[in-house]
Amino acid sequence: MSFFPADMPRPEPNYDDEGFWKNYAEKRLCFQACGDCGALRHPPTPICHACHSVEVTWLEAPSTGTIYSYNVVHHAGHTAVESALPYVGALVEFEGFPGVRLVTNVTDVDPAAMQIGMRVNLWWDDIGEGMFIPRFKPA
Ligand SMILES: [Zn+2]
Repeated sequence: MSFFPADMPRPEPNYDDEGFWKNYAEKRLCFQACGDCGALRHPPTPICHACHSVEVTWLEAPSTGTIYSYNVVHHAGHTAVESALPYVGALVEFEGFPGVRLVTNVTDVDPAAMQIGMRVNLWWDDIGEGMFIPRFKPA
């Protein structure tokens, strides 16, 4: 059973981020890097902001990250998430991936216990049809 109910709108991969979703389908937390200069970029984009190259490579991040920021959601922005309230939305950073911050959820946590700088471990949320979403639990 996924973290959010089945009627939660699903991600719709497009040309620019299909590599991102392909890695997720294999439960690999990867971020895009320039195939020429190595500059990291997230979310995925078709061109490097540093050297304008269109070459792309994907680098796998560690499965443990650090909370950069978070919020506790008490009001549903979509009817599909009403049963999950309150839940934690967070920005997670990873060692070796400067400037990359993943928008995600922290689960299995008392929202009052959340702290910036908290260490969190990756888990894969199976949302069906071969799609997995990276979410985190306190380390
Ligand atoms: Zn580049």
